[in-house]
This record gives sequence, C-alpha cells and structure tokens, in this order.
Amino acid sequence: MTTNNLGLYIHIPFCRQKCRYCDFLSFPCTSEKVYGEYVTAVSMEMQQRKADAEDRIVDSVFIGGGTPSLLSPMEFRRLMGSIRENFSVAEDAEITVESNPASLDRDKLDAYLDCGVNRLSIGIQSFDNHSLQLLGRLHDKNEAFQTIQLARKAGFDNINIDLMFGIPEQAVKTWLDTVRQGIFLGPQHISLYSLELEKGTPLYRDVYEKRSLFPIPDIIDREMYHEAIALLKQAGYRHYEISNTALPGKESRHNLKYWSYEEYLGFGPGASSFFGGHRFKNFSKMSQYISAIKQRKLPTDETLLEHYSEMEEMGIYVFTGLRKAEGISLRDFRSRFDVDLFSVYDPAILRRHKGLINLYDDQLYLTDAGMDVSNTVMAEFV
Ligand code: SF4
Repeated sequence: MTTNNLGLYIHIPFCRQKCRYCDFLSFPCTSEKVYGEYVTAVSMEMQQRKADAEDRIVDSVFIGGGTPSLLSPMEFRRLMGSIRENFSVAEDAEITVESNPASLDRDKLDAYLDCGVNRLSIGIQSFDNHSLQLLGRLHDKNEAFQTIQLARKAGFDNINIDLMFGIPEQAVKTWLDTVRQGIFLGPQHISLYSLELEKGTPLYRDVYEKRSLFPIPDIIDREMYHEAIALLKQAGYRHYEISNTALPGKESRHNLKYWSYEEYLGFGPGASSFFGGHRFKNFSKMSQYISAIKQRKLPTDETLLEHYSEMEEMGIYVFTGLRKAEGISLRDFRSRFDVDLFSVYDPAILRRHKGLINLYDDQLYLTDAGMDVSNTVMAEFV
C-alpha cells in the first residue's frame, strides 16, 4: 500500500577519527567552520528538493553518519530548522539522532530535545575495553555507561544502542557480558551487528595481511548471535528484524521504512533515496557534492541512477521485507505489483526450504532458523 508519508535521512559525514574497521562514508574532521558550511549545503539541498515533496508528510527523520553528535548545539538547531522549514514534519514524527559517547554532552542532549528529537541512537559497540581498543573507538566502557545514563537523565525515553560481535579476540563470554550489560542499562532498542572485515581498513590488514589477529570463525559468530538473541528475548525484547530487537512498540519507524518498501529522501554525500518510485544516490565525493550545490543543481550522481525492472523491484520488496520477523504480506505484494507473489516465484521454494520459510495465512516469513541462513533463502527471490 502506498502512503503519502515520507522518511528523511540526513547524512553527517564527519568523525573525530576513523575507527579501525570503518568503511562508511565518513571523513576525519573537527573543524567547526567546516561543520557550519556543511549544514548550509545540506539546507540548500533540502530547499532544492522541497517542491517535489510538498504533498508529503514526513513521519520519520534520521540524522545519521558519521557522527552527527559532533555538530554544536547551534549548528544542530540550524539543521533542524531547515528540515522543518522545507518539509511538513508530522507532530508525532520519529526523529532520531545517531551519536557516539565521546562526542555527547548535556548541552547537545538538551538541544536535541528542544528541537523535537525523540529517539537517540548511541554507537556503544562493546562494554569491553579491549574490544573497543581493537575497533579503534574513542570511548571506553565507563564513558559508554555514563553516556546512556546522561541521555536518560536529560529526558530521553527512547534510546537505541548498537552492539557489535565477531570482533577478533572476543570470547563468547565477553560478548554475552556486553549484551547483559546493555540489557541492564535498559535501552528501549538494541541493534546487534556482526563485524564485517572490509578490505582496505586497518583491522582487515591486521587480520588478513599481517595476520596479527585471528578472525572469529563463522560457527562462533553464529553462536554469539543466537545466544545474544536468546538473552534479549528473555529480557522482553522483540527480535523484529534480523539485526534489531526492541521493547514492544519501540521498533524503529525509520528503519522499518527501508524494509517495508516505503519511500525516503536522503541528503548529503552518498545518501540514497527511493522517491516517486525511483531510486537514486548523491555524489559520494564531498567536492562533487558541494560543487553541485553551489551551482544550485541537485547533487544526484547520474551515473548511479538505478533503473530497476519490475522483476528487480519485486526482488527488492521480498529481499528487504523478509528481514522483518513478520515477513511480507501477500496481499500487499499483489496491491503493489498487481500480480500474485507465487505466480512470479516458484511455490516449491516453501518445500525446498521447509523449516526456514513459512506461509501462515497472508504472511510469508523466515523462521528463527531461516533468519540464520537468510541469504540462502532470500537468494531464491533475486
Ligand atoms: S564513528 Fe562510525 S562512521 Fe565514524 S569512523 Fe567510527 S564506525 Fe565509522
């Protein structure tokens, strides 16, 4: 079902320094002047897009990065002012800011609340100092604790923490202690990510070139995932998406858009959009992005305009939708694509992957075992 709701993603591509595993689009930068110029550029991009979205209601805003919490309260207020000036933001919109413990303080938290931010996502990754050091994070375990407590004291009642497993030298017990400590601190949402060692990062070099660290074997990585999910379920968190758990009613509305075939506009270098039925992406190079904005042109990278066939769009719908525990609705599929899912895909998939994928009434979904080998099952649909 299409709605006129819209999500906005605003990318803040600055970090104090690069973490040792990071291949996200972010640059080391601590210059307030550069942050200010960047907020101006993103605001101009929003002005350029405003007319296209004038009949849409923004029901989620996600300010991600990079490290958005590097922006001063003044620049952050300016950014939120531009969002509200250019788009119709619903009164009950979910507004999330991503942050890192080493760059948050009470003044920033107060500014977020004052601007209507109602969800804070904190990149904790681990409560073990050795893992944090290996990852090249700037905070330690104590700062992680203090930041969560500070956010709660400031008035945040919807907090996500990101945790990471599969870190070289991480024992299963160390990881589960991190999960237990996360649960103990009581955030409403906990995301779990398995570390991907990306080529070109210092951590990849340590593991695969210098061989000074050993990767975590897949079988241990899976054990870490299962045991963590079990602990979270016991504590009342709902495992609503492969990598995400939340207390009931605290699922991320913005992230659910990506998995539910809903539309969003992305701002900033490298930001992706799915809007008006089209998928496009901004220039990733900051210089190209800024130069387009200065010339009052949209910073869309024409070489990356993604033209998907109807069949590929159906694949995206199924592939992303099956990430959710509830899976996908066959009725919704039909109303979007005007065709039955099982006239496009072989119904024998259900037999071939018995125990991994189920059809109950109208919903097609992965079982717990299916979530574990999701790529194998999903490959049937792409
Ligand atoms: S804080 Fe996040 S975006 Fe920044 S370098 Fe670390 S992992 Fe990358």
